[in-house]
Amino acid sequence: MYDLAIIGGGPAGLTAGLYGARANLKTVIIEKGLYGGQMQNTLEIENYPGFDNIGGPDLSEHMYQQALAVGCEWKYGEVTKVNLEGQPKTVEVGGEVIEARSVIIASGAQPRKLGVPGEKELSGRGVSYCATCDGAFYEGLDVVVVGGGDSAVEEGIFLTRYAESVTVIHRRDVLRAQAILQERAFNNPKMKFVYNSEVQEIQGDNRVTGVLVRNNQDGSTQVIPCSGVFIYVGFFPNSDFLKGTGILDEWGYVVTGPDMNTSIPGVFAAGDVRNTPLRQIVSAAGDGAIAAMQAYHYLENL
Ligand code: FAD
Ligand code: NAP
Repeated sequence: MYDLAIIGGGPAGLTAGLYGARANLKTVIIEKGLYGGQMQNTLEIENYPGFDNIGGPDLSEHMYQQALAVGCEWKYGEVTKVNLEGQPKTVEVGGEVIEARSVIIASGAQPRKLGVPGEKELSGRGVSYCATCDGAFYEGLDVVVVGGGDSAVEEGIFLTRYAESVTVIHRRDVLRAQAILQERAFNNPKMKFVYNSEVQEIQGDNRVTGVLVRNNQDGSTQVIPCSGVFIYVGFFPNSDFLKGTGILDEWGYVVTGPDMNTSIPGVFAAGDVRNTPLRQIVSAAGDGAIAAMQAYHYLENL
């Protein structure tokens, strides 16, 4: 029986593991992939405090070793089912049932991919899913944003701080983004819009040089030269195993209060999987620390 079971070993889960184990809770992190989560796919991280520039795999290694050094246990496997009500709570991993008195959900989220040629090959070489992370690399350069929702428009506006121009490519003739964001974008002289258009291919050998775009009204194609392509065609949380628990919002994110509590006592969530206004390593780590300390207080009162 564990005091605390943490689902997911990204920065949220690893920080929760560090704080949980340091609070003398018998703690386990259950992870289906490599420790570090999305950080493992990030070549350079320039906005994690204390490091001017650190590789994602390096930071993952540091966080992993630090959690293990204080006694946090690590279990490899995919959580497919949970029973979160009452005591003990159970988490199913590959046929094994793990019992715990409290649970932190830190299973993250994934940016939706476009699925076009060049996207995977040039990921981290001009293709990005995170303007906050990578925008500063495009000082004085032309970039493209794909998508027409709040994320695309808001992040596009953010990118104008660095880029010479930001071209939003949207598949319809009206943006989905809320009116106020649209207004700000239309009033920004650095922003351009290409409507009724779909990216067919991201071009470049070692780095992005442009995107091939097809107009879905008349079938014409054009290449838009650019150094960066920011893809914002939606995100999806890794929360399939939580369906039916009543703690998800309509988009599948875990609903939490400010202290990371869900509506089920003893169940907390941290990082990208929750309905958070910022999806970054530093915020995931902060969430993880809060969630672990709240789990500690919950167990004290149990
Ligand atoms: P994740 O990192 O997504 O980790 C969740 C973990 O849970 C994963 O390892 C996953 O395998 C595991 N998991 C999921 N479901 C299950 C299951 N059922 N059972 C077991 N395990 C499961 N942020 C920055 O601050 N700076 C940056 O420079 C930066 N660059 C980025 C670059 C890219 C390309 C991307 C995609 C994101 C970037 N981010 C950056 C965002 C940052 O990586 C995320 O906000 C952060 O990793 C979220 O942490 P997390 O722990 O909540 O989730
Ligand atoms: P979203 O609202 O789902 O928008 C995704 C956009 O990508 C849509 O414009 C969609 O086009 C387009 N798209 C989807 N699949 C595509 C494909 N295969 N090819 C080309 N385009 C594609 O996602 P989001 O913008 O990430 O927002 C997610 C949620 O977070 C929303 O509820 C949003 O309101 C919220 N959010 C809020 C704020 C804020 O309040 N400031 C900021 C960011 C996000 P269509 O329009 O044609 O469907």
